[in-house]
Amino acid sequence: MTAIAVTIAGSDSGGGAGIQADLKTFSALGVYGASVLTALTAQNTHGVTGIHDVPPAFVRAQMLAVYSDLAVTATKIGMLSQPETIEAVVASVKQHKTGRIVLDPVMVAASGDPLLAQEAVKALVSDLMPLADIVTPNLHEAAHILAQDMATSEEQMRAQAAHLMDLGARCVLLKGGHSEGEDARDLLKTCDQELWVSGRRIETANTHGTGCTLSSAIAAELANGAGLEDAVKAAKAYISGAIEASDRLKIGTGHGPVHH
Ligand code: PLP
Repeated sequence: MTAIAVTIAGSDSGGGAGIQADLKTFSALGVYGASVLTALTAQNTHGVTGIHDVPPAFVRAQMLAVYSDLAVTATKIGMLSQPETIEAVVASVKQHKTGRIVLDPVMVAASGDPLLAQEAVKALVSDLMPLADIVTPNLHEAAHILAQDMATSEEQMRAQAAHLMDLGARCVLLKGGHSEGEDARDLLKTCDQELWVSGRRIETANTHGTGCTLSSAIAAELANGAGLEDAVKAAKAYISGAIEASDRLKIGTGHGPVHH
């Protein structure tokens, strides 16, 4: 039987990130993907020129339609844009069988354009994070949530992951890709273990959609029945391959997408 995953996220008209990256990832990993749109972005490889939020009631309507019919075994949550959108998603998550939940706390696009209202960060952390099986911040997002400087050492990454768990996260994958080291080392922290997951650092400008792709790859693996640790390792291998292949893609004239 084909496993089913859902992505609750924004659309990237340029096709590199958001819902489009998530569905490509689900497909590549053999999972059927359904989608709940939270916002439309007018966007290309240079940046975001507009955001059109989906009304929260319609986010709920999409979730009802999907979960009342499809036997979903994992859900990935990405761009949420507004506090009201978070409220709608929280209420619906509590109501439906979502399967395991991967929360990617999307805050800014790779171009630096904001994708989450400043006042929404609190609700994301207090109301949604505790409902997710795993949250996958990068170093900037973790620092922003914690109102701290970005971690620059493994020691600081450990401390910030622990702090996120104190705030209610069940498991944390703190992504070290924005650090300076030779390897891109991510820290997986669960309630009973810490594990470093490494990938070779790859020099390329085509990294648009990496966060979306990694979180949806974890969701796809979970949808297929993998345990959390195996899902994270397989997803890291998938994103490393997609980044490595990205220079073969010539899409747009700015920061291009990774290659699925
Ligand atoms: N979601 C949407 C709709 C986006 O447009 C973006 C980035 O542009 C993201 C999420 C986050 O992208 P990334 O995977 O590059 O972190």
